[in-house]
Amino acid sequence: MPDDRRPSPGTLSVWAGESGRLDTNATQVPVVHSVSFGYDNLDEWLRVARGEAPGHNYGRNSNPTVAAFEEKVRELEDAEAATSAATGMGIISSALYAILSPGDRVVSIKDSYGGTNRLFTEFLPRFGIEVALCDTTDHEAIEREVSAGCQVLYLESPTNPTLKVVDVARLAEAGHAAGAVVMVDNTFATPINQKPLELGADLVLHSATKFLGGHADALGGVACGGSALIERVFHYREIHGASLHPMAAYLLLRGMKTLHLRIGRQNETALRVARFLESHPAVASVHYPGLESFEGHEIARRQMRGFGGVLSFELQESSLEAVGRVLERLCWARLAANLGSVETVAGPPATTSHCECTPAERAAMGIPEGLIRYSVGVEDAEDLVADLERALGGVGG
Ligand SMILES: *Cc1c(COP(=O)(O)O)cnc(C)c1O
Repeated sequence: MPDDRRPSPGTLSVWAGESGRLDTNATQVPVVHSVSFGYDNLDEWLRVARGEAPGHNYGRNSNPTVAAFEEKVRELEDAEAATSAATGMGIISSALYAILSPGDRVVSIKDSYGGTNRLFTEFLPRFGIEVALCDTTDHEAIEREVSAGCQVLYLESPTNPTLKVVDVARLAEAGHAAGAVVMVDNTFATPINQKPLELGADLVLHSATKFLGGHADALGGVACGGSALIERVFHYREIHGASLHPMAAYLLLRGMKTLHLRIGRQNETALRVARFLESHPAVASVHYPGLESFEGHEIARRQMRGFGGVLSFELQESSLEAVGRVLERLCWARLAANLGSVETVAGPPATTSHCECTPAERAAMGIPEGLIRYSVGVEDAEDLVADLERALGGVGG
């Protein structure tokens, strides 16, 4: 760093992980496809292989392009260390399996991401790990479960797809009182809008596939936290093998150079779209933390700098058929399962966040069939509002 002033997130988005001089004098981080790294000197090789000297040995363990990506996220999250995986689920499962053992207990929320929810309901119990899933906004219930004892408190805020907000600082305190590792999936907020480590979390997790990469052209996952914790997650991932590909790492790095611009724009547009939808007669409810009328708004105002680019809304006519009619009339939205990209993406939970669940399971989680998740891109807000107005004209008020 040139001086003591801590650079702003915009400067870090551009420079972090990429500010050193590269071997080739290239100004952009090269994609190092080499699977291995060769040494003439056995002593040096041994030191690198044992992790006693900087450098790389084998691509499943580490790679320079991947390391640059990890460094960029680490600096943005203001963390001691970071490690990555091939996908968001790769890093989430690595984090959970690295920490938990048979007989341990996890406390989490009912609204965690669909894949994470599957780990909790289908896989962890098979390994003798008990999981207590609480109503997401019932902080007292979460605190009660935590104080009954747990090794991991796993949170997500805002949640997918109903944007529920949990008080990270309050729950992190409860988690630490119980001796738990507090994990937060920060995918929806990104470090531009929310810094879970500042709020007391031990480990921040991201599906980099979404806002970090921002262009829907690379899968990836990343975790940030203290060095000892990250070392455990890294070790699990290097042995279990879900390493991030160098080409994906490069695409994520390139996408992240505009993270602050994209998120700033998406925060503004999402609020405009949410306000428009809130006033539309065909819309029963709008879920967006930036709306004063939204249940989690006060907590969100305290812990977020911006409210993010994803919202969801429920049609008055709450059926998958009505959802289909609206979605198919949209011009400026991909109907697809991802989110957080430069283009607007829309879809129902049945084909996106909760496609792993049955309608009955979704209903039990409070996710109605008439819900549409809408992830704003960087298009002009006026065009998106006009597009929604046209599409909503096709359903009854
Ligand atoms: C998409 C997503 C994940 C999973 O990430 P992948 O990269 O698809 O494995 C986890 N958490 C949240 C909140 C997500 O949106």
